[in-house]
Amino acid sequence: MTEVQKATFQTGGAFLRDTRAEVERLLSTPEARVRGARQLYLKAPISVGLIVASWAVLLFTHPDAVVVTLCLGGLLVGATLVAFCVQHDANHGAYFKSRRYNHLVGWTADALLGFSSYAWRVKHNVAHHTYTNVDGYDDDIEKTPFARFSPIQASRPWYRFQHLYVWPLYSLMGIRWQTLGDINSIRQGSIGQSTVRFPTGWTLAGLVGGKLFYIGWAIVLPLLLYPWWVVATVYVGLSMAGSVVMAITFQLAHCVEEASFASPADLVADGRVWAVHEVETTVDFCPRNKLLTWALGGLNYQIEHHLFPRVPHTLYPAIAPIVQRNCLRHGVRYTVQPSLRLALRSHFRHLRVLGRAGLRAELEMG
Ligand SMILES: [Zn+2]
Repeated sequence: MTEVQKATFQTGGAFLRDTRAEVERLLSTPEARVRGARQLYLKAPISVGLIVASWAVLLFTHPDAVVVTLCLGGLLVGATLVAFCVQHDANHGAYFKSRRYNHLVGWTADALLGFSSYAWRVKHNVAHHTYTNVDGYDDDIEKTPFARFSPIQASRPWYRFQHLYVWPLYSLMGIRWQTLGDINSIRQGSIGQSTVRFPTGWTLAGLVGGKLFYIGWAIVLPLLLYPWWVVATVYVGLSMAGSVVMAITFQLAHCVEEASFASPADLVADGRVWAVHEVETTVDFCPRNKLLTWALGGLNYQIEHHLFPRVPHTLYPAIAPIVQRNCLRHGVRYTVQPSLRLALRSHFRHLRVLGRAGLRAELEMG
């Protein structure tokens, strides 16, 4: 591993102190707490139920084409809901007070999505949430030599086309996590600059058991009833579609023109305060779209999520005005994209500008 400068933040600060005080006041009201928890818990049976029902109908009945299409849609929507509304909250510790119960619900990532919740907690909770958009630390922006997501990363001639070829790359993300991503992070003992300890005991059992369980229901059992090419087509097709939804959801929040990027040296030189950094590297999108907010597990309120990852996502819309007000008061840049179209356009432009920047003039001129 090449030597990377240590990334450090200033902690605390008036912005976080004032915002946290107001959010804690909101959370201390029983109505908010109960409402948030009830709405969160309701999503688990819906998400898991969609997967189980769709899978059972496909395997144990003789469905016609319409029912098959509905069931494939059910598997895709169910998996997306588990990813955004169940495992994500649980692995952040937002589901219960108990760490063990959170990890148990977080295991839905292993059992139903096929990737390790143990590796996810390092990749997402530590590498991404602590060092958002910090080059060399946040694994979510490390896609070199395939794509350049941060202006700090070196340019390459082929990045010129990244705004076009990045979409199929996103579609491979799920299969990569399930296989090489999990294996490499444990073999290398790190994700970005964050340590991944070799799992032992229940953690190891959960990882191996989860992989076996997932392979069993998603691949082995279907192979007993359908030809291999049908199973392969459905598996790869659903994985690709789910990956694109998941990648775009996170990219629209961080990998856009309005978000800041930093090197570890920048953090030290600016004396950057962590909470301010999180807000300015993140963008909210479509906050008024209630259906999207429900389906994405509040990840369109990504600023609120980064400041309060242990709060159920169902409360982010109530927290947003508090964060917004305090940003205004403390001079912190708070960005909202009002529509999905504008958010997608910003991500597309960001990729195109970074792909072209730093190339020789004749290449830039086309
Ligand atoms: Zn998160």
